Amino acid sequence: MSAEYDYIVTGAGSAGCVMAARLSESGKYSVLLLEAGPPDTNPWIHIPLGFARTYVNPKINWMFETVPQPQMGGRKLYLPRGKTLGGSSSINGMVYIRGNHGDYDEWRQRGCEGWDWDSVLPYFKKAENQTRGSDDFHGVGGPLHVSDQPSKFELADAALEACVEAGIPRNPDFNGAQQDGCGYYQTTTLNRRRWSTAKAYLNPAKTRPNLTIQTGAHATKVVIENGKATGVEFQTAQGRQIARCRGEVVVSGGAFGSPQLLQLSGLGPAEHLQDMGIPVVRDMPAVGANLHDHFNTNLSWRISKPITLNDLERSWPKKIAAAAQYALFRSGPMASNGIHAGAFVRSDSRLERPDIQINIFEWSTLRRGKDGVVPHPFPGFTLMPVHLRPEGRGTVRLGSPDPLAPPAVQFDYLRTEYDMRAILAGIRLCRHIAGQPALHAYTVNEIIPGNHVVSDEDLAQFVRETGVSNQHPTSSCAMGTGTNSVVDPRLRVHGIAGLRVVDASIMPVVVGGNTNAPTIMIAEKAAATMLEDAQAAA
Ligand SMILES: Cc1cc2nc3c(=O)[nH]c(=O)nc-3n(C[C@H](O)[C@H](O)[C@H](O)COP(=O)(O)OP(=O)(O)OC[C@H]3O[C@@H](n4cnc5c(N)ncnc54)[C@H](O)[C@@H]3O)c2cc1C
Repeated sequence: MSAEYDYIVTGAGSAGCVMAARLSESGKYSVLLLEAGPPDTNPWIHIPLGFARTYVNPKINWMFETVPQPQMGGRKLYLPRGKTLGGSSSINGMVYIRGNHGDYDEWRQRGCEGWDWDSVLPYFKKAENQTRGSDDFHGVGGPLHVSDQPSKFELADAALEACVEAGIPRNPDFNGAQQDGCGYYQTTTLNRRRWSTAKAYLNPAKTRPNLTIQTGAHATKVVIENGKATGVEFQTAQGRQIARCRGEVVVSGGAFGSPQLLQLSGLGPAEHLQDMGIPVVRDMPAVGANLHDHFNTNLSWRISKPITLNDLERSWPKKIAAAAQYALFRSGPMASNGIHAGAFVRSDSRLERPDIQINIFEWSTLRRGKDGVVPHPFPGFTLMPVHLRPEGRGTVRLGSPDPLAPPAVQFDYLRTEYDMRAILAGIRLCRHIAGQPALHAYTVNEIIPGNHVVSDEDLAQFVRETGVSNQHPTSSCAMGTGTNSVVDPRLRVHGIAGLRVVDASIMPVVVGGNTNAPTIMIAEKAAATMLEDAQAAA
């Protein structure tokens, strides 16, 4: 292939699908969307509870892992990432959270003009079809369906009651005026089906004559000539191909894929590129630096009543009944994501914004990682404290000059005293919640870590041995104005014409909440910016 397009987008994930759909919307511009993974035909993608199955499926999941983590006893941490149309929005937990208003004001304070809360809110609303209706914070009529949980759940209700007993107020809308509090999560679903960006944005656009979607196409290099991006090289089953670009190349490979592709293209820390034998086009130390993420651990309790997903997983009659209920009525346990509720709190009352999210899972696991998800053989639930604002920053580097090899991901979890202090505060709060009458009525005993783990030293050891990525990596191609950034506030790569990065990697700092909705907002705003720039240049 050596066709020429106005825009080439690499990566059809949360951001890439939005970009392809919006850039092709007017019909004026030809757009090529390249996705390394296959179409999103795996049926588990579309069933809300199916995300436990896609968690470890190598056909639609990159299944990366980190390099050994020094602060975590040398463990390699599992990093699932979507590798199909919709990207990680096709395998994620579907929780719809935007983060704190102050997060975006902080982006602005860091020099990202136009990214303060008031400026980004219209793009959250533009993307959204809020099933509760529109208000000051929510939009209707957008491609992304946002729905309430299909029903109330006994254990989630008890856990929320326990949160209230522990002093955490109810919050009916984490994406409204106030983030603090506890409540049910809304999800990116429609009629009990996952609503990925492939469903929301790509499906309605895919018959447009000016949009070409190529799956099984792994971008291996952005072609840069005389300081301008002029095309993309990519690998398919048929071999290496090149597509030419007369307008702009948009890199949307996610927080691991985007810095990897830039480095393969000669944009990155010169010394590292030279070590890898890659000709340096521009020395950019910030490419792959500043990697940010949420960090979490899990606490689990055994309960007396068989009302959890553990009980579903180990009973064939229950599984068959659940499958039938879902197939016939779109209801029952398969119709929900199993993460029904949560809370946003502060590890220290002096903080300006919540720094801990507590996810309430109606299941508990013996093991959860690259080799699968194994629930406990008895009823159990999990409270997951997530540290939303770690100070540690990691890197994404090339693991090899082979463009098809996985990147080398190094997080820097638990680097500072605050990073450990915050997660320990989260653990203590989870125990406090579980000890309240509303939940205590259900619990038999704490199984992870167990009542014997009490001192700061022992809890810190538990965190090092079991802590994991919360799967919200960002900031590895950070937006900003100085040399510690990769793109400017219009998401143009510094010093290279015709090249933008649009995905979670451009967040200057990770937001204090789940990252899918913010990534979609970023893409909505980026597409509007690019179309504005194209108009101005015409
Ligand atoms: C298991 C899991 C659970 C999560 N749960 C939630 C949740 O409940 N709520 C929430 O808000 N967020 C959640 N997230 C995070 C959220 O989904 C991501 O932050 C978001 O999807 C990131 O979007 P992105 O566009 O940056 O990257 P992605 O959506 O990962 O898209 C990148 C795309 O680029 C493709 N790609 C990469 N490299 C190349 C290449 N070289 N050539 C061609 N294609 C390439 C990939 O295959 C992928 O399709 C979760 C993530 C995971 C993995």
